[in-house]
Amino acid sequence: MTTWKKRTKAVHSGTRRSQYGEVSEAIYLTQGFVYDTAEDAEARFLKAGEDEFIYARYGNPTVAMFEDRIAALEGAEDGFACASGMAAVNGALTSMVKAGDHVVSSRALFGSCLYILEDVLSRFGVEVTFVDGTDLDQWAAAIRADTRAVFFESMSNPTLQVIDIRAVSKLAHAVGATVIVDNVFATPVYSDAIAQGADVVVYSATKHIDGQGRALGGIILGKQEFIRGTVEPYMKHTGGSMSPFSAWLMLKGLETMDLRVRAQTATAQELAEALQGHKALKNVIYPGLSDHPQHDLVQAQMGAGGTVLAIDCGSQAAAFKVLNALEIVLISNNLGDAKSIATHPATTTHQRLPDAQKDSLGITPGLIRLSVGLEDPADLLADLTQALGKG
Ligand SMILES: *Cc1c(COP(=O)(O)O)cnc(C)c1O
Repeated sequence: MTTWKKRTKAVHSGTRRSQYGEVSEAIYLTQGFVYDTAEDAEARFLKAGEDEFIYARYGNPTVAMFEDRIAALEGAEDGFACASGMAAVNGALTSMVKAGDHVVSSRALFGSCLYILEDVLSRFGVEVTFVDGTDLDQWAAAIRADTRAVFFESMSNPTLQVIDIRAVSKLAHAVGATVIVDNVFATPVYSDAIAQGADVVVYSATKHIDGQGRALGGIILGKQEFIRGTVEPYMKHTGGSMSPFSAWLMLKGLETMDLRVRAQTATAQELAEALQGHKALKNVIYPGLSDHPQHDLVQAQMGAGGTVLAIDCGSQAAAFKVLNALEIVLISNNLGDAKSIATHPATTTHQRLPDAQKDSLGITPGLIRLSVGLEDPADLLADLTQALGKG
C-alpha cells in the first residue's frame, strides 16, 4: 500500500469495512461505544487498540478512516482530524508551546491564523517574531537557539507568496525547532511538504478536501509520537475534534480531489494567462505565471501554480464594480470550491488589519482573490471579461 500512487491512496487508503462489507465508507454516527465488561472498559481506557474506540471526541471509526487516508496521501505517519482548519492550526501550535517559548512566523497569514499567533499565543507568554516569509535572511536572523517552532503558510492568502519549505526547515532544524506548515493553497495534490522538511502539516479540509462547500474540517499531520503524544491529548480534552459526518464528507471529497484540483489549476493557469496585461487590470498575480517572482520555487516545490489567482483592479470602486457585474463567479469567501468564488480581501477576510499592515502585505484596495472552480474555462473567461469591461 505504501507503493500506491496518490490517486490510489485517495480512493482506498484507510478504509475499514464493517461485517456488512459496504463499498462506500460507513458513517458511524455515534459518540459512545459499549464495553462487554467493566474490565474491558478499564483496559481500553488504559490503552485503546487499533479498532477500539472510547468516545467520539477521542476518536471514531469514520474519523479514523479520514485520518488514515489523508496521512497516507501526505506521506505522514499519523493525523488528527479537527472540527475546522482553525481548530487544526490552533491545536498544532497550542498543544506544543508553553509560556517562555519562542516562535517565528511569516507575517503574510490568513486573518484567523494571525489572530492565534499575534493575540492568543502572546497572552499565554509565548514570544512570536514575525518575518517576511519570502526573505530567508529574515528567517535566519529571527530563528534563535531557543526557538521552539516556526509557522508559515506555504503559499500565502491572498497575495500568493511562496515560502521555501526546504530552506526554512533547514534553518529551523539547525536549532531543533519544529516546522509547522499551513499547506491549504498547495493542497494535498501538489504537496510534498513532509519530504521537503516540514514536521507538521496542517490543512483546512473545508477548502479543496471537501471542495464542495458542505462542511468545515481540518487535519494535523505529522510523526506518530507528535500526533498521539502531543496533539491528541490536547485536542481530545479541549473539544476540537471532527464530527463523524464531516469526516465522511471529507472521505468522499478525497476520492475526487485530485481530479478537481488539477482541473481547477489548469483553468486558473489559463485565466491568469488570458487576463495578464488586460487594460482594466493593474496586476495579475498567479504563481504559475513566468513573471511571478517565485515561479521557479513554486515549480520545484509544488509543480503547479494552484487553484487561486489574484487580480488588482486599481481601486476599491473598480473592484466592487467588477464583483457586482460577475454573473457566474460568486461573491463569497471560501476557496477551493467547485464553484468559482471572488473575494475582496481588504474589506472582508483582512478587514481587521490596519491599513499599514494591508499595505505591507500587498492587500491593495483593488485586489480581488479569485478561487477557480470547476466551470467551463471559456464561460469563466467570458464572465470575467464582461465584468472587467464594467470596472
Ligand atoms: C481557510 C483557511 C484556514 C482556516 O480554515 P477553516 O476550515 O475555515 O477553519 C486556515 N488557513 C488557511 C490558509 C486558510 O485558507
